Amino acid sequence: MTTIVDLDQQYVLQTYARPNFVIERGEGCYLYDTDGHKYLDCVAGIAVNALGYADPDVTAAITQHAGGLLHLSNLYHNTSAAVLAKMLADSCCVIDRVFFSNSGAEANEGAIKFARRYARDRHGEGKNIVVAFDGSFHGRTMGAVAITAREKYREPFAPVMPGVRFGEYNNIDQLDELITADVCAVVIEPIQGEGGLRVADVAYLQKIRALCDHHDALLIYDEVQCGVGRTGKMWAHPCEAKPDIMTIAKPLGGGLPIGAILMRQKVADTIHAGDHGSTFAGGPFVTAVAQVVFNKISQPEFLTHVREVSDYLDESLQDLMQRHAEVTELRGKGLMRGIRMTIPVSTVREKAHDEQLLIATAGDDVVRLVPPLIMERHHVDEMIGKLEKAIVASK
Ligand SMILES: *Cc1c(COP(=O)(O)O)cnc(C)c1O
Repeated sequence: MTTIVDLDQQYVLQTYARPNFVIERGEGCYLYDTDGHKYLDCVAGIAVNALGYADPDVTAAITQHAGGLLHLSNLYHNTSAAVLAKMLADSCCVIDRVFFSNSGAEANEGAIKFARRYARDRHGEGKNIVVAFDGSFHGRTMGAVAITAREKYREPFAPVMPGVRFGEYNNIDQLDELITADVCAVVIEPIQGEGGLRVADVAYLQKIRALCDHHDALLIYDEVQCGVGRTGKMWAHPCEAKPDIMTIAKPLGGGLPIGAILMRQKVADTIHAGDHGSTFAGGPFVTAVAQVVFNKISQPEFLTHVREVSDYLDESLQDLMQRHAEVTELRGKGLMRGIRMTIPVSTVREKAHDEQLLIATAGDDVVRLVPPLIMERHHVDEMIGKLEKAIVASK
C-alpha cells in the first residue's frame, strides 16, 4: 500500500526532513495524527497558529467570506485591505502606512527595496549598504538570504544580493564602525527566531536607533516571528527604540498566507505609484480574515493572558533547568522561548515526538518553543512533563 509518506518521498521536493507521522486535524493546542495520536503542539506551524487550530472566530470569518471576493488584484480598491492597514497603523505609534505581502520573506524583500529607494531619493546612489547580524534569519528569497547570516542558506546560491554588511548581534562596541554613512538600512530581529532566540538589548537597539538617525539610515525590525502578541505585547521591540519599517507575517492570517511592511510616512513619501507591487498580496479574503485575527490578539485581556502564561512558563523552565545540568541557558521572551542544551536537540525533538509533544529547534543546541498563544497553564505543565521525559531519554 502506498502511504502518504511514500508519496511525499517520491514526488515532493525533499527540502525538509519530516518525521514519519501524518497530521490529520487540529483543535486548540493539539494536533491529531492518522494513527489517533494526540500531540501537544509547541511549534504552532512555526509561530503561525497563534490562535491554535479551529478557532471558532477564524472559522466563522473564513466561512462568511468564502463566497465573496477571494481575489481582486491590487488594481482596484479593496475595503478589507484598507481597514486592516488602518488597524496595523493604529497599533504602533510611529507607523503610518502599510504595504501587504504574501509571506515574511516577501515583506523583507519589499523593506530592502524601500530602504534602497529612500536612500537614493535623498542621498544619491552611493548609500546602499544593508547591515544585518550574525544569527539572523530573514527568509529564503535572494534578497532575504543575502541578509541571513547562516552560510548554508546563502553560499550555494551565490551570487546573492550585493551590498550587505554583517555585524555581531548585541555587540554595542562594534556599532560605530558598522553603521556608517554608506548604510541605507539596518535590519534586525528584536528577538532572533531561527538564529537561537537571543533577545536584543534595549541599550543596543537605542544605539542603533541613534546611529540610524545620525546617518539617515532606516531601522528595519523583522518582527515576522516575534511580533503580533507573541511576547505578551503587540510588538516585540522596546518603546525606547522605534523602527522606521517593520515587517510582519507569520501569525497575521491565522494560518492563511499574508505579510506586511509597516512604515513611517517619511519612507512612504519616497515610494511612488509603480515602484513595487504584487498580484496576490493583501487580497480581500485574506485581509478580512486577518482583521479578525489581529483584533482578537490585540485585546488587552488576550495579551494579559499571554503574559501570565509566559510568566508561568518562565518559572517552570527555571525549575527544569535546576533539575537538569544538560540545560545550560534559557532564552527568549513571552511565548517565544529557547532552551540551550548540551545534548543534541534533534535527538530531544525525536524523543519528544515519542511523548506526543511537538517542539522545534533553532540551530544545533537550542530547543525552540513557539506554542499557540492560547496555551493555558495546564498545557505548560503537560509540555514541561513531556519535555523532561524527552531530555532524560536523550541523555
Ligand atoms: C519565518 C521568518 C521569515 C520568513 O518568512 P516566510 O513567510 O517563511 O517567507 C523572515 N523573518 C523571520 C524572523 C522569520 O522567522
